[in-house]
Amino acid sequence: MAESSHPWSLGGALRGMFAKKTIDDETWDDLEDALISADFGPDVTDSVVTELRASVDLFRTTDPADLKRMLRETLEERLARLDPTLTLSARPAVVLVVGVNGVGKTTTIGKFAKFLANHGRSVVVGAADTFRAAAVEQLATWAERGGAQIVKPQQQGQDPASVAFQTVERAQRDGIDIVLIDTAGRLQTKSGLMDELAKIRRVIEKQAEIAEVLLVLDATTGQNGLAQAEAFIEHAGVTGLVLTKLDGSAKGGFVLAVQERTGIPIKLVGQGEGIGDLTGFTPHVFVQNLVG
Ligand code: GDP
Repeated sequence: MAESSHPWSLGGALRGMFAKKTIDDETWDDLEDALISADFGPDVTDSVVTELRASVDLFRTTDPADLKRMLRETLEERLARLDPTLTLSARPAVVLVVGVNGVGKTTTIGKFAKFLANHGRSVVVGAADTFRAAAVEQLATWAERGGAQIVKPQQQGQDPASVAFQTVERAQRDGIDIVLIDTAGRLQTKSGLMDELAKIRRVIEKQAEIAEVLLVLDATTGQNGLAQAEAFIEHAGVTGLVLTKLDGSAKGGFVLAVQERTGIPIKLVGQGEGIGDLTGFTPHVFVQNLVG
């Protein structure tokens, strides 16, 4: 794919730097600016720049092309420190999907169902965000697009844990491979929401192991979005991150910042509103697109 097609590519910001003949003080300032504006955050920017300065000294190079290669290697090595593999071997493999409203949770569940169907797995979706009737209907539309069955609440406001229970029960009865549970994302009632998630977990764990708890984050909100999601990280037992809207974000650096700050691996990446726009996370490909 062409560099220019990635809004989060650092290509433009780095072009001037790498067009020079030699690495100088301005190079380091430019690199720092480029990383900060791509939302790597001050801590990751500092440590990346420090590491690169040390490498440049160690190899006694002044060639910007070497620096570019080192930047690619450093970012890739850092991103690959956490394992992005989804653990879905249990039958059924139960996946809880959590996150603040509007981040792309429903869309992600639909895309993920399709992604799993493409890999030969059958899926049932549980609509455990039971207070918003519109959310249930939206999820039903996405489940259908993704080729998944759905278990809906019998009435609005039904206990979300009971919907989760019925969904796992359906999977066990019908031999369905994967259970995806959609959950509420009302931040206004943070402690209520965390209690609700804890109850869903307790009820499911009586029936089956929870394979993954995926936290969906909107990449366009960058570090602010992460602050909003901290309650989930503290209380919901998150095992993996899904970054959505990377297609619409100039904040590619958020990808590394979020992994280093949370210590939780990115497992899936959403790059569009279509059913096929969800992929696994591959540090090598990501860094190629980011750095060029
Ligand atoms: P929820 O409230 O978390 O369930 O969010 P939705 O799934 O309803 O998504 C909110 C909006 O984000 C919708 O307009 C989606 O089409 C959009 N969206 C979700 N994922 C992506 C993505 O990867 N890229 C883009 N561009 N838009 C997305």
